[in-house]
Amino acid sequence: MVSRVIPVAPFDLVVFGGTGDLARRKILPALFRRFLSGQMGDTSRVIGAARSEMDAGAYRGFVRAAIEEFDAAAARDRAQLDAFLERVGYVAVDAKGSAGWGELAAALTEGRVRAFYFSVGPSLFGDLAQRLHDYGLADEDSRIVVEKPFGRDLDSARALNRGLARHFDEHQIYRIDHYLGKETVQNLMAVRFGNMLFEPLWNSQYVDHIQITVAESVGVGGRGEYYDRAGAMRDMMQNHLMQLLCLIAMEPPAKFDPDAVRDEKLKVIRALDPVEPGNVVRGQYEAEGDKPDYRAQVGNPDSATESFVALKAHISNWRWAGTPFYLRTGKRLKARASEIAVVFKETPHSIFGEEAGRHRNILTIKLQPNEGIELGVTIKEPGPGGMRLVDVPLDMTFAEALGPDSAEFPDAYERLIMDVIRGNQTLFMRGDEVEAAWAWTDPIIAAWEERGEPPQSYATGSTGPEDALMLMHRDGRRWREIKP
Ligand code: NAP
Repeated sequence: MVSRVIPVAPFDLVVFGGTGDLARRKILPALFRRFLSGQMGDTSRVIGAARSEMDAGAYRGFVRAAIEEFDAAAARDRAQLDAFLERVGYVAVDAKGSAGWGELAAALTEGRVRAFYFSVGPSLFGDLAQRLHDYGLADEDSRIVVEKPFGRDLDSARALNRGLARHFDEHQIYRIDHYLGKETVQNLMAVRFGNMLFEPLWNSQYVDHIQITVAESVGVGGRGEYYDRAGAMRDMMQNHLMQLLCLIAMEPPAKFDPDAVRDEKLKVIRALDPVEPGNVVRGQYEAEGDKPDYRAQVGNPDSATESFVALKAHISNWRWAGTPFYLRTGKRLKARASEIAVVFKETPHSIFGEEAGRHRNILTIKLQPNEGIELGVTIKEPGPGGMRLVDVPLDMTFAEALGPDSAEFPDAYERLIMDVIRGNQTLFMRGDEVEAAWAWTDPIIAAWEERGEPPQSYATGSTGPEDALMLMHRDGRRWREIKP
């Protein structure tokens, strides 16, 4: 099967923060891969913008080095890399001043899609929106893309939304959550709403519980300063895990249209009960060998910030009343492994006798390191010796069923950037969704701050603090193994 590439209309994409870490690691390599696929077309342009003074030639050298470092395989196609770099320009611009804006305006082409990627700290979002307006760079068809973190609480998120809304309509604002750009996350919607099989069972009558795990094996690395101000709740739970929860739990939208999908996601967030303090566990990783502990790594010996959080959530609506959602995320855990597991109830009775046991189906949506969907079903263990039952995975990994090419799909950033150019907001968070998510997480964080309890420590390479295990054990359930 050869993947189909639908070219997009010619565009000018300005990457504010074009010299930053995110641009180097994700945005620029993603654009090059879209160029390689033929989707970017011959005339589209990428313009880096940051304060550093350099000419376009120097910036092209920077972009080349970034692509060589972060996608060495793609960079091997020297001729194509040269052709891509011809479409790359640079303008030195200060988001807080007047320098460079006239030059940037002159660098843009009339009559094509304009996208402005704000790959800078959120404190600059309002300044950039203001200057795009003041210097007449944006028209009613222009789009802006904003990165996380979108605020650190409800008030700051509201302020950011207000700052952007001054000059851009909601349909022009693309708040990125790269988890939503993953192939499997979209496949989750296809499996749910493209089959008769699952949706009738997708409720508290048949689903025992749902687990969402986003585990990382690395620590905070070089992002210590930022991370220590955020923590796992703000950095991961409020956005990525809650977005996954919404897609799993939402009602079927009437159509696959941005507002129809986002309306349903918003209803899920609004139906979440407040989390009781006993249903949240925070952790901080310990040292191991030459790996420093969390506090040493962020350079804050008194830090009370969590590098792990697990919680039990309830959605109070007809579909989900009585089905708990267990969510956990953390750093320096046993493996890098992210998945959603829909754990169905056990069969009510075993016709094969006590020894055959009662079994349950588990639908697993794997997000990383490998993407795929697996359905655990119970069958007879082959061979003689009576009716012994065994659970086996029905693997819906794309490459098996659809051929090897099907496993080569654009990564999340590639897909999301092209969605921006196409004007499709389905996989981007709407302002009210982000605010509702903060309204749910703020009281959890406030309760921690009020109690002043430090996070529990957990061993590097473990599954998190002991109490996180207890969160499920006391309900007679257990977390799934963290394995890649
Ligand atoms: P970074 O490495 O610190 O880069 C910041 C960029 O902004 C640089 O290009 C910097 O260039 C530019 N900049 C700073 N002040 C400016 C100003 N006044 N006017 C114009 N440009 C200015 O940050 P980053 O890691 O790339 O992160 C960018 C955004 O993405 C942040 O919101 C971050 O939270 C988010 N994000 C990052 C990651 C990641 O893995 N890095 C992941 C998710 C989200 P000059 O100094 O030359 O101006």
